[in-house]
Amino acid sequence: MRPDREAEYVEPADLFCGRCTAMTEFATAPSTFTVSMIGTSLLGWGSRCRECGSDGRVLWLIFGIPLIPLGRYRVISAGGGEYYGRKRLAGRRISALTAALQPAPDVPAELLADKTYRQADELWLSAEPRDALRLFEEMRASHEATLAADDPAVIHLRLRGAQALLATHHKHAALALFEHVATAAALRLGLDHPVTRWAAEAAGRAAESWTSPKQLASLLAAAADPTAEIPTDQDVRAVTHQIRLHASAARAHLRIGKVKEALWYVDNALGASYELHGPDHPDTAVLRHTLHTVAEAANPQDKNLQAEIHACQQTWQPK
Ligand SMILES: [Zn+2]
Repeated sequence: MRPDREAEYVEPADLFCGRCTAMTEFATAPSTFTVSMIGTSLLGWGSRCRECGSDGRVLWLIFGIPLIPLGRYRVISAGGGEYYGRKRLAGRRISALTAALQPAPDVPAELLADKTYRQADELWLSAEPRDALRLFEEMRASHEATLAADDPAVIHLRLRGAQALLATHHKHAALALFEHVATAAALRLGLDHPVTRWAAEAAGRAAESWTSPKQLASLLAAAADPTAEIPTDQDVRAVTHQIRLHASAARAHLRIGKVKEALWYVDNALGASYELHGPDHPDTAVLRHTLHTVAEAANPQDKNLQAEIHACQQTWQPK
């Protein structure tokens, strides 16, 4: 596929927010045309999404009057009667991504007893993900200030944050956070714990749902530069986001067999995490685990790559 073809493919898919993506499937954009009152037309049916601005429409075959409904879509106008569209899933079918928006298991009791948490959950359930995200983020920050980064309450709040990010058009940030929490939960709670399994599933769904593995790697590569160090003297939230984005780019490159690129990204992420959190922080341990995954995927015959990985592992050891 030529690079410009890929760009064409991914742009319309990325216009829709996570919630609208979850309700729909990729489809060729509905084309509308009528000649002498014969043709197809998109007619109103559903509400406008406040997140991505897509509208619910039904594609009708027109024969003087709307005659046969051809499918339900969520559409965003591209101007000039053209639309980006995703087809509504029929009946009660749900998409793979829907799983990532379902309730996460094992909510810690202290959170259920918390008024702000219940308020955030109500906002989430009443389809106000942006307001829910703000509250979940506030709670996460205050909990991270007093608890370990891999405390079950912090893990849960990060998962809620990732869901809200997914629903508010921050798909890359959501994916990076789901992946991070999946590894943190595996290291802290064990691979078979329901929270670990749920987070890993959500991360997998988020990675697969809206684009091809190759396209995902190049999208993340555009967002994270592996040749420049992540500046750690900026806002902590921005640094943390860059670190997770680099780790996510490492995993995306690993999935398409680009081990050397994956190593660059995770090396960068580890360097920044060392500086920001220190070597023994649970978030640094997550990145070290990602480095371990990179090492396992590397060709043992490639001596240069093996030497680079070894040097990286030596540099970023726990103290
Ligand atoms: Zn939407």
